[in-house]
Amino acid sequence: MNLIETIKDAGIVGAGGAGFPTHVKLNTKAEYYIVNAAECEPLIETDKYLCRTFADELIKGIMMISTHLEAKKSVIAIKAKYKPEIAALREAIEKNGADIEIFEMRTFYPAGDEQVIVQQVTGRSVPERGLPIEVGAVINNVGTIVGMYNAIVHGKKNTSKFLSVVGEVQEPIMLQVPIGTPIRECIQAANPKISDYAIILGGPMMGRVVADDEAIDQQFVTKTTGNIIVLPKNHYLIERTHVPMDRIKHQARSACIQCRMCTDLCPRFQIGHRIKPHLVMRNIWRENSIDSDKQFEECFGDAVNCCNCGLCELFSCPMGLSPRRVNGYMKGKLQERGISVEKNMHPVSRPTVELNRVPTDRLIARLDLGKYNGLHAHDCIELHPKEVFIPLSQHIGKPAVAVKNVGDKVCEGDVIASADATGLSTNIHASINGTVCDVTSSGIRISEN
Ligand code: SF4
Ligand code: SF4
Repeated sequence: MNLIETIKDAGIVGAGGAGFPTHVKLNTKAEYYIVNAAECEPLIETDKYLCRTFADELIKGIMMISTHLEAKKSVIAIKAKYKPEIAALREAIEKNGADIEIFEMRTFYPAGDEQVIVQQVTGRSVPERGLPIEVGAVINNVGTIVGMYNAIVHGKKNTSKFLSVVGEVQEPIMLQVPIGTPIRECIQAANPKISDYAIILGGPMMGRVVADDEAIDQQFVTKTTGNIIVLPKNHYLIERTHVPMDRIKHQARSACIQCRMCTDLCPRFQIGHRIKPHLVMRNIWRENSIDSDKQFEECFGDAVNCCNCGLCELFSCPMGLSPRRVNGYMKGKLQERGISVEKNMHPVSRPTVELNRVPTDRLIARLDLGKYNGLHAHDCIELHPKEVFIPLSQHIGKPAVAVKNVGDKVCEGDVIASADATGLSTNIHASINGTVCDVTSSGIRISEN
């Protein structure tokens, strides 16, 4: 098998959150190979742990992928304040004689946004709703590269996940768990300080809030789970998600003071994309009175360029309004009306791009997460659950197709669901040795023998 086939066979997808099948992303040549080690969102510990612990594997993995891509430059983008991680990476670069540059970034949010990193490293802005390869770059997260290294060198399939558990726990911990591990087991391992909690799967800005106890019981670790935040149910970040859309629209109509902070601090606006959330907010009152599609697009078309980073609603807006959710709502309305917004294929970053950065510490204070900040996970604990539930859709694209039946014996690494051959998809493997005890349209349950 060549490199692409090996990565495909191992079921590697972007570990940084998006879950894009990696064999598709790497099936190209590129000028730049960029490694995203920025650990974008506050509180998350996973990428830092991987950089410290697997620096050698990471550097060897970068060398392999870089050779495959015929990249002229290989660059690790990491925040300058991550000193131990940078030291570990520099040592591994030296040891392997690798031609890899370390690009030290300031500590701002969203430093790890793929398009922001590409602009920082190359000076080029990715087209609206485009991909880094359109400006000659391929970018992978550190977890994805460690997974690829293990697949290429050790023949290991994508069956386990490193993740941190932070927030209302005795102390933040790092875990290595089989994919499909119940999220409750991960939280219990971190000794939560409260019993009635909500969680965020991912980071505080873009993660998915799960507040209902029964819903938490139905959550399992997937290929993209990198962090779990445990919070009181009445925490600001949890309560905000309960506000209904009608109230959000009403607040926008009545309280937006058109200060345009949401636009000026928007990272996509700063790299030159056509997105002005303050104008979408200004026009929201006209939503139901515009018949012409052209006019509707003029008022709300910018919404399609929103990347959902959350900065406008969780930091920028002095009135506590929600341009992000209004943009999400308007994306749906544009789709309903069949309006396709043209892309700007040649955006140019604005002169203010380096000035209008939001420092992560100020963001953490605004999010009321200060008491959890500065606590770090050190050692990694391995969990061995007796039962796992492995979803068939853990990636962008079509769900994998189950190839096992109830009663089948499986070993860790066996394919239990194959990539759907009719579209973008990826293989899914058993993460423990055991017996298949349930196969549903959403996933496969395996119990230890
Ligand atoms: S969520 Fe807000 S700040 Fe982020 S890209 Fe969308 S409009 Fe810009
Ligand atoms: S930051 Fe808030 S108040 Fe200011 S323009 Fe944007 S939505 Fe309106």
